Amino acid sequence: MTASGNTDSVVDVAVVAPLDKTLSYEVPEALRDCVKIGSRVKVPLGRRQVVGYVMAWTGHGESRLKSVLEVIDPQPLFHEQHARFYLRSALYYDYPPGEAIRTALPAGLSAPDRNPTILKDKLYRVITREDSPSGEKQKKILALIRTQQQMLLSQLRERFDAPHAVLQRLVELNFLQVETVERCRDPFAALPIETHHPVVLNASQQGAVDKISTALQQGQYCPFLLHGVTGSGKTEVYLRAIARGLELGRQALVLVPEIALTPQLVGRFRSWFQQHNVNLAVLHSGLSDGERYDAWRQVARGDMDVVIGARSAVFAPLPNLGLVIVDEEHDGSYKQSEGFRYNARDLAQLRGQMEDAVVVLGSATPSLTTFQRCRSGQVKKLDLPERTADRPLPDVELVDLTLHEGDKLLTQQLEDALKSTLEAGEQALLLLNRRGYAPFLLCHDCGASIRCPNCDITLTYTQIKRALRCHYCDYQIVPPESCDRCGGANLLPEGMGTERLEEEIRALFKDTRVARMDRDTMNRKGAHHRLVTQMTAGEIDVLIGTQMIAKGHDFPAVTLVGVLNVDTALNLPDFRSAERVFSLLSQVSGRAGRGDRPGRVLIQTYAIDNYALDFVARHDYQGFADLELEQRQALDYPPYGYLVNLVLSSNDEAKVNAAADKLSIGLSHDNHDVDVLGPAPCLLARLRNKYRRQILLKSQQREPLRRQVVRLKQLKEKIPAGVQLTVDVDPVDMF
Ligand code: ADP
Ligand code: ZN
Repeated sequence: MTASGNTDSVVDVAVVAPLDKTLSYEVPEALRDCVKIGSRVKVPLGRRQVVGYVMAWTGHGESRLKSVLEVIDPQPLFHEQHARFYLRSALYYDYPPGEAIRTALPAGLSAPDRNPTILKDKLYRVITREDSPSGEKQKKILALIRTQQQMLLSQLRERFDAPHAVLQRLVELNFLQVETVERCRDPFAALPIETHHPVVLNASQQGAVDKISTALQQGQYCPFLLHGVTGSGKTEVYLRAIARGLELGRQALVLVPEIALTPQLVGRFRSWFQQHNVNLAVLHSGLSDGERYDAWRQVARGDMDVVIGARSAVFAPLPNLGLVIVDEEHDGSYKQSEGFRYNARDLAQLRGQMEDAVVVLGSATPSLTTFQRCRSGQVKKLDLPERTADRPLPDVELVDLTLHEGDKLLTQQLEDALKSTLEAGEQALLLLNRRGYAPFLLCHDCGASIRCPNCDITLTYTQIKRALRCHYCDYQIVPPESCDRCGGANLLPEGMGTERLEEEIRALFKDTRVARMDRDTMNRKGAHHRLVTQMTAGEIDVLIGTQMIAKGHDFPAVTLVGVLNVDTALNLPDFRSAERVFSLLSQVSGRAGRGDRPGRVLIQTYAIDNYALDFVARHDYQGFADLELEQRQALDYPPYGYLVNLVLSSNDEAKVNAAADKLSIGLSHDNHDVDVLGPAPCLLARLRNKYRRQILLKSQQREPLRRQVVRLKQLKEKIPAGVQLTVDVDPVDMF
């Protein structure tokens, strides 16, 4: 059933349209040889022509079937095992399969008539013979090609002026053969490669590598959690495991949270693989459509040994996958928050199962879901309990904000610590998880704040651009002179943001070099990379940032980490808020003291007694996880229960309310294994001018929840036009 050379003439096609199922199409005689599983095809759907993906051959059809019109790419985009994986993923997240696959494939491939061009090149191969041609230029060019047996026209153009005519002549004289080949763009060709300094693994690292190697040898699905404290050398373990897999002839897939934010990790991978002659594909959000298309096709052809990328790389069509690594597996960015709402960390495990691959989930602060799977024996735990080279973890102190007076953002303790750090010529990181100058402008006469007209949220004030902006819908205005409500002239910025912190640091420490890393400063291409380079070179003294600065950076000269305020995050009405805060603070603390000098962390908070903070201060992941899991179990929350979040939205408030009530009654009817919670207004009850209501489905088992999702398909029909329903299976954010 796999090849097109058989007698099957009908294919299942996942069309790019909001349909739950694949559709059958007849493959006309003329196309039988070029239609393959994974082919992107053009097919009729109603009166339109749409793109679809061939998922399987299914025998003979009735004569009524419509026909495949055209095969778009010269080579299939994925293989049979990937087709099965994509379909399972779409089914699990209740998303139309064709649209799910469109999301999975490189951007720029969804319009039937527009395609990134495939670049062409000419490959010249020597024909074995002793003699040489007579012309001088002919001799020179041939001599060079003979040293390498074959060369591309593009390579020869770099060495010779207009070589084409001479090459043509050499072909005519029968010294060379020529063929047309595809040329793949190499987006990294221009970047320098850092040298990788080999290290001797310590005992825990070696132990982890050995266990992963044994599993690789067995060639079966085997999930691991690599639980290593910050700075314990997880990257080195990944590299050795990948090398072992490659020796066994199996390819590797490496997922990282946000590739633009992990230049150091990617740099280390590139240098290591360059030295070991490994073909690495980096699927980067900054690639052009053409570059991404090239990389994808190389991967599908089996030309790439290792693929590294952010969440969507989980779909990369490596034909012979043996190892999947999910670095920082706790990271929220593995969950896609719109459209096809998959979680790449979970899909990595499904894929490992389906393709007999070893899966390594790495983190210093594993998600409680993964940790619980270790406790129940479904995932094997590998521990790296210490930092490399006997470096200690930093000292973490909590600073009580209730004792802090005045309106400076830094407490005296943090100011003093920063002062001594700077005097010692060391670097500091300051985390403030709020960009802009202040979260709102408040009228000090009547207490009104300025809110977004489209969303249920205050507008963030940025002083640099002198603007009030909504972080959700991008609505923007110039700050008014006076309050709309009372006409008073005392509109003042309230609360703190990174801009304001930067201003305060500059005022306190005059000659200090300060930089800021947040969505506002990092949106230009290469900005993040430049900042990381400057930090590493010691050209910045204080780096201020949002949670971006907590991610994976390895700056050896950072000895102080200050956290300005964690209380907003702690108080979010979400059962995962403590887990998120624990993870964020442990990660950012882990940036301190990674070099020769020990690190120190100060966390300012109003909630000095909070248990999560206490565990952070003691570097006690296990203690935190045990306590938190106990609470989750008592309430049947994940990982002990399962959730599906339904969000209804509409411009019409009455309509959305009625639809939500009706849907909730329908779902509750005759059903005992699933709790139907709500409908209730979403935390962001209005977003981009839409009113939003949510219904949360909760169950101790997956199966009944699945049945409800299937049932939802019938109930969906009754939702009136103008009301949208989104289904989020295993939701992460429920705002
Ligand atoms: P993690 O990802 O666990 O936080 P990294 O992989 O970034 O840690 O490693 C931290 C630092 O330790 C890196 O600079 C790395 O080169 C170094 N390192 C890794 N393994 C060893 C080792 N066995 N001996 C000495 N240094 C090591
Ligand atoms: Zn808005």
